Amino acid sequence: MQKDSFLKFKNTIKKANNIVITTHWSPDGDAMGSSLALYNYLLQLDKNVKVVVPNAYPEFLDWLPGNKNVIIHQKNEAKVEKLIKSADLIFTLDYNSFKRIEKLGLLLEKATAPIVLIDHHQQPDNYATYYFHDVAACSTCELIYELIAGMGHKKMIDKKIAACLYTGLMTDTGSFRYPSVTAKTHLVLSELLKTGIVPADIHSAVYDTYSYERLKLLGYLLSEKMEIVKEIPAAYFAITESELKRFNYQKGDTEGIVNYPFSIKGIKVCALFMESEGYIKISFRSKGKIDVNKFARDHFNGGGHINAAGGKSIQTLDETVTKFTTLVKTLF
Ligand code: 5GP
Ligand code: MN
Repeated sequence: MQKDSFLKFKNTIKKANNIVITTHWSPDGDAMGSSLALYNYLLQLDKNVKVVVPNAYPEFLDWLPGNKNVIIHQKNEAKVEKLIKSADLIFTLDYNSFKRIEKLGLLLEKATAPIVLIDHHQQPDNYATYYFHDVAACSTCELIYELIAGMGHKKMIDKKIAACLYTGLMTDTGSFRYPSVTAKTHLVLSELLKTGIVPADIHSAVYDTYSYERLKLLGYLLSEKMEIVKEIPAAYFAITESELKRFNYQKGDTEGIVNYPFSIKGIKVCALFMESEGYIKISFRSKGKIDVNKFARDHFNGGGHINAAGGKSIQTLDETVTKFTTLVKTLF
């Protein structure tokens, strides 16, 4: 879908009544922000619209307008199967491969409704009828803004939609500091602020929500668990399940921690390995041209962006870390 076909796409939306919006496993601020922004917009068009997420998301996103109506597939499998079957249009936001939504992917594979992919990650799979895909976009929320505005509905972006979009723009850009931030990002933000949303309140709602234990966990990881790979400007954390338990780990508590070693002069690659739900969940971050999307795809069953990617391993934590410390050398 090119930008000049947004008006045509408006007709596709007009014809659909039952619309399902989906996003990726372990939804983050951009996943929930883009999904709920589109949800609130489609409600204004009187659509029967549902947001379906594969699994639960962190509590600091619970305030997003529309949150109460989000359906978690893991807890409502039968209901979601019905919704997908009766959908006229399905959106897949902030991901581009059914591998990113676990069991929900099996339902989408069988779906008869046309699928709309809106995303900014590298290398989309070939499953959709409509693609609005731009790796240069700082977030999927930026693309949702462009889509709504491109369909001539900028005026429909109210405070609720703006709050959702602001959240995704903020969380996916590290509060507007990553290289993905452009003049366009700030123009979009400027339009969102005109609706009356208060940025300071949104920052507080998302970031000033640590529990005492979460801050202690951060302190522990920084002082005891941060490792630098020998003779390589790469740093990593490897966290066991029992350590997480010790700090009463809640979903989202390790978010952002992977980035801390970048504040050490010279560090170019960061990684975080965490025992989670029977496998090792991995986060990679890099600077400049170092491509962790390719690294995660090639070696760790994952993907993402050039400078921020994720993956999984079913080996032990130690084995996974050893694999990383051996392979990370190939990035330099
Ligand atoms: P995070 O490290 O914050 O979980 O994820 C970093 C980026 O990589 C996000 O854009 C996320 O969507 C993507 N990502 C995380 N895990 C995976 C994965 O297992 N597969 C793919 N393809 N992308 C992932
Ligand atoms: Mn995103």
